[in-house]
Amino acid sequence: MAMRWEQLAKHQPVAAKMLQSGLEKGRISHAYLFEGQRGTGKKAASLLLAKSLFCLSPSGIAPCLECRNCRRIDSGNHPDVRMISPDGGSIKKEQIEWLQQEFTKTAVESDKKMYIVEHADQMTASAANSLLKFLEEPHPGTVAVLLTEQYHRMLGTIISRCQVLSFRPLPPAELAARLMEERVPPSLALLAAHVTNSYDEALAISQDRWFADARTLVLQLYEMLGKPELQLLFFIHDRVVPHFSEKHQLDLGLDLLLYIYRDLLHIQVGRSEDALYRDHLDRLQQWALSCPQRRILDSMEAILQAKARLNTTNMSQALLMEQLVLQLKR
Ligand SMILES: [Zn+2]
Repeated sequence: MAMRWEQLAKHQPVAAKMLQSGLEKGRISHAYLFEGQRGTGKKAASLLLAKSLFCLSPSGIAPCLECRNCRRIDSGNHPDVRMISPDGGSIKKEQIEWLQQEFTKTAVESDKKMYIVEHADQMTASAANSLLKFLEEPHPGTVAVLLTEQYHRMLGTIISRCQVLSFRPLPPAELAARLMEERVPPSLALLAAHVTNSYDEALAISQDRWFADARTLVLQLYEMLGKPELQLLFFIHDRVVPHFSEKHQLDLGLDLLLYIYRDLLHIQVGRSEDALYRDHLDRLQQWALSCPQRRILDSMEAILQAKARLNTTNMSQALLMEQLVLQLKR
């Protein structure tokens, strides 16, 4: 769905303000660099800027999203708005040269032109040099927008010729709301929005059956902590270790477990509306009643230590989980 200015202003207030004010004053920079993590709306913002510049019936600076130009920009078919993306892992010199040829011709339909370079950090050295020349001698009426998730990989000489706008990661509540717009169930959306702040990653995780099963399994694990030791260890080896067999999976599983304790704390201080497992609020409330706060904090500490061990040592994951659950056992 095409982005509107109100949406950009909500998610990225600083970037939106800069662009809106440039448009209102007719002082759009000839080159921008949008930097920020995946899923923060950089590409949608670049298309919104293009539509604001090319729309045939805008109201103020807001594009109509329906005219021929708006529609062609959204479908990538406007002759004066070009998008360059990595071709087989990198952006090559020929791609930038093609762009330069296109842009030295007079604009096909108007006096304006715009080009967007996706993953601009993936330019080869020779592509970057070609682009640099282009940025040094801007054609009047031409706007460049470079997009990157890897700001530190961009050449200083390119950065210095662009106005840099940073796109901040979405706060979890906003990210969860966007996931729910994509019909992700609230129970998974909230949790996915806490394990990553990338929209694409959160969407992929929450649509993965593995994640839903992981959530169920971690809730079961919490319940098993009240069972006899042999039964608990059997559950770890039989169910937990196989499901979280990769290191990054167990790392995520430990986060899910940590969030149960976090929920218990929230409930104890009267903030049950902040619980991430709120579809299990009844159970959580019972658990919160029977678990002293000191114990919750110690348990969280033990989980964080297990995460650190997982990521810094070669300890077997089964052993790591065994040690952890014996610490957490009630
Ligand atoms: Zn329009």
